[in-house]
Amino acid sequence: MPRVGDTLTTLISEDLIADRVGELAAQIDAEYRDQGDLILVGVLKGSFVFLADLARRLTIPHRIEFIAVSSYGDRESEDPGAVRLILDVRHDIGGRHVLVVEDIVDTGYTLSYLVRLLNARLPASLRTCTLLRKPDRAKVAVTIDYLGFDIPDVWVVGYGLDYAERYRTLPRICAMKPPAA
Ligand code: 5GP
Repeated sequence: MPRVGDTLTTLISEDLIADRVGELAAQIDAEYRDQGDLILVGVLKGSFVFLADLARRLTIPHRIEFIAVSSYGDRESEDPGAVRLILDVRHDIGGRHVLVVEDIVDTGYTLSYLVRLLNARLPASLRTCTLLRKPDRAKVAVTIDYLGFDIPDVWVVGYGLDYAERYRTLPRICAMKPPAA
């Protein structure tokens, strides 16, 4: 139920998300076949729904880990590129095939920080997967190996993504406008 005054407009329907998640899983299945366990590293909190759906569509053996970094809000007042680690993965990723699973890449600071952090631990390979990307907002170049959708520069909620902790469990992705102040 939307909060009074918030305007939600569907950008990507539940069906479209499910189709694309299936395609990404098929591509990941094909590319990691016969390589042992793939470590999926979900970036909390936003990726938890996407990670759950993606992982359940995979047929290759995989393990789930989570990592969390400082929230967007914290960063605006500080150095805009600064990202802080809040929660680390529980197991060593050295020598493992690792796939970082993000909800959305906006400026790219978060993903590029995570790639640097995890690469320093010498995984066998490290790739990135994000459901959404806002190409108009990119500030740093970061390689995205598996991409769900490019979207315009609007604030999106649903399918794990929030606005002030609301709307994470909406099944579709919506553009959201809060009430005018
Ligand atoms: P970046 O470091 O690429 O600028 O930002 C990535 C993070 O910003 C995402 O993981 C997410 O937490 C947040 N973010 C960026 N754009 C949006 C958006 O439109 N909606 C929501 N809910 N979070 C966003």
